Amino acid sequence: MNKKILVTGGAGFLGSHLCDRLIAEGDTVICVDNLFTGSKKNIEDLLEHPRFTFIEHDIIDPLFIDEHIEEIYNLACPASPVHYQYNPIRTVKANTIGVINMLGLAKKHGAKILQASTSEIYGDPEIHPQVEAYRGNVSTIGPRACYDEGKRCAETLFFDYHRQHGLQIKVARIFNTYGTRMQPDDGRVMSNFIMQALADQDITVYGNGSQTRSFCYVSDLIDALVRLMNTPAEVTGPINLGNPAECTIRELAEKIIIMTNANASLKFEALPTDDPTRRRPDISLAIKTLDWQPKISLSVGLERTIAYFKNGGLQE
Ligand code: NAD
Ligand code: UDP
Repeated sequence: MNKKILVTGGAGFLGSHLCDRLIAEGDTVICVDNLFTGSKKNIEDLLEHPRFTFIEHDIIDPLFIDEHIEEIYNLACPASPVHYQYNPIRTVKANTIGVINMLGLAKKHGAKILQASTSEIYGDPEIHPQVEAYRGNVSTIGPRACYDEGKRCAETLFFDYHRQHGLQIKVARIFNTYGTRMQPDDGRVMSNFIMQALADQDITVYGNGSQTRSFCYVSDLIDALVRLMNTPAEVTGPINLGNPAECTIRELAEKIIIMTNANASLKFEALPTDDPTRRRPDISLAIKTLDWQPKISLSVGLERTIAYFKNGGLQE
């Protein structure tokens, strides 16, 4: 069925893959992006498509759309710590004023709205793996707080609009996701390590590399987002989306060195403030509610991502 769907942050890493998927399904897509970390290159194959429209716009400013919209995916927010800390006040604004603008738009159109929330909601978690009922261990004043607390407030706003205005909401807590179309200078661990390895430069491991993350390949994550949007109205989330296969950052660096055949060593640098020590999603709820599980292993996902960066970041 052809639906009219708004994707904010649609020129970014996840957003551009989501736009591709929705267009392939026959939907009409309006992509809204301020191009802060996103790029027209990510959507260049879509720009001429008759069912695709790009609007350069910052969600911090009110947005008016004349055509009737049925669904909104709200992904607009820088996701790399380097990018969200570049202008932390703007990051808070995107997650508060920007989110209010998008919720207001959803209310006006009677549209369903999905929020790209994050595992950062849990901060540096004291329980492992993280379940949705866990309320988190987040600093309100540290350098990550603009993102963590911003995203927490965004969840609050989603649930308040749901209770107060009867809005249909879906809140996805996304864990570390990687894949093609990450920017080489994105600053997150995957692009940093792969770019360094491909250039035979030493791999910058922050801290001693014993901190863990669980990496989900982009196609798996996009599939989960679409499934979540298509759930019945009573499914609001929050729901963890990610791949529970956990590894240390040191293991990741070593794996990338082997897979790229790099002539590189590990270079240990200072651990950033408030860097979470362990992170792994409990995805029981997603398995049950969405009939979904990630399919792409870290080895396969890395192979594809390395090939993409080797190919000069050409579109895939
Ligand atoms: P990204 O930086 O590639 O994409 C974000 C996009 O939003 C970019 O195109 C950027 O230009 C745009 N944007 C930023 N601020 C905006 C604003 N104020 N108005 C309009 N557009 C704006 O990051 P991503 O990895 O694709 O992340 C997409 C969303 O998913 C983000 O909301 C992020 O918080 C969330 N998320 C991602 C991950 C992950 O591992 N990739 C994990 C958890 C949550
Ligand atoms: N990291 C690292 N070297 C880098 C970039 C990141 O060791 O060049 C570490 C970082 O300290 C964190 C993990 O890799 O422990 C994941 O960082 P990323 O910025 O990708 O995302 P996060 O999960 O912290 O938001």
